[in-house]
Amino acid sequence: MVPASVPAAPPVAPGVRDLPFVTLHLPAGPAPWARASRVAVQDPLPSAYVGLSDDELERRIWAARNKLGTRLVILGHHYQRDDIIKFADFRGDSFGLSREAASRPDAEFIVFCGVHFMAETAAILGAPHQRVVLPNLTAGCSMADMADIFEVRECWAALQAVGVERVVPVTYMNSAADLKAFCGQHGGIVCTSSNARAVYDWAFTQGDRLLFFPDQYLGRNTGYAKGLTDDQMPLWDPRELDGGADPEAYRRARAILWRGWCSVHKRFTIDQVRQARAGHPGVRILVHPECTSDVVAAADLNGSTEFIVRQVRQAPAGTVWAIGTEINLVHRLAQEHPEQTIFCLDPVVCPCSTMYRIHPSFLLWALENLVEGRVVNQIAVSPEIRQHARVALERMLAVH
Ligand code: SF4
Repeated sequence: MVPASVPAAPPVAPGVRDLPFVTLHLPAGPAPWARASRVAVQDPLPSAYVGLSDDELERRIWAARNKLGTRLVILGHHYQRDDIIKFADFRGDSFGLSREAASRPDAEFIVFCGVHFMAETAAILGAPHQRVVLPNLTAGCSMADMADIFEVRECWAALQAVGVERVVPVTYMNSAADLKAFCGQHGGIVCTSSNARAVYDWAFTQGDRLLFFPDQYLGRNTGYAKGLTDDQMPLWDPRELDGGADPEAYRRARAILWRGWCSVHKRFTIDQVRQARAGHPGVRILVHPECTSDVVAAADLNGSTEFIVRQVRQAPAGTVWAIGTEINLVHRLAQEHPEQTIFCLDPVVCPCSTMYRIHPSFLLWALENLVEGRVVNQIAVSPEIRQHARVALERMLAVH
């Protein structure tokens, strides 16, 4: 049962089935918490949308898009396949896309071709009248799923119990809305892969140490860049009793790193870096900071998805790149820059399987429903979560 102090969730569109709120009874903090998202249950794709030819999908998606006109904005994450990206009004990383959506208040519908946490962020940053749609609700993020509000509150309480004080919670953008709200409520902040260093600086003005979740590698790579040592960055493993390390390690920590990772970026290895250098003299190794620390240290450059795109765009003809990030982006960069040699650092490729779930059939189904006046797969965030998550996001903007 939902306590009276938890505000009612915003209305969702007709035809969308809600999951009931789940009330959490957690050890720390007086306020009852509810799950951040009100997520519609995924209906199976209607059979009429299964098995359509590429030509028919393309024709009907354009037709629906044209009918909706400026009422619709389609956002395409860089990691999406080409047959989705071609319909996008904007392409970019998760944060950039949410900002693009916020810059289009005339758009009633935001169809986010990305993963769940991205659509939630768009719902938090968007105007109240905007409806955010994720074409396939099974498009999640394995990294974001490695930290949930139950575990984070448990960790928070356990750290307090062993005298770890003045902790600033920092969540990576790749996290659920309720974790962003947790940070907003506890003096913390959201970071992106492009502003993580500035966020570390900010956090050290607010407290003595960070609790960084859910990506240990972005946390560690940023810590190294700020001069921290491994001793100062113990791991918190949510699957181990009390995080798995000695309480003294947490008391002397400067950054406590959650044991999470990206299944795509963790695939890149130091051997691949060596092979790329051996096979392509002069190659520039360019990787995402979600890669493991040895790979980042061995690379020539590391940075966010937008940073990777910018490096390639700015490079002179003839530059050779081995890029450590998702394969759809690497392929697209290679196609768009034939004057350079661009290949994936991992020869076996590394797709983000959850991004891949945004198939054109799902996009068509979502758009044709919008044309008919039905909003399917709406992502909505409760007012309380939205309010606190916005605080953490606005802090992030201030140090960006
Ligand atoms: S690439 Fe990694 S972090 Fe990004 S959505 Fe996929 S699993 Fe999540």
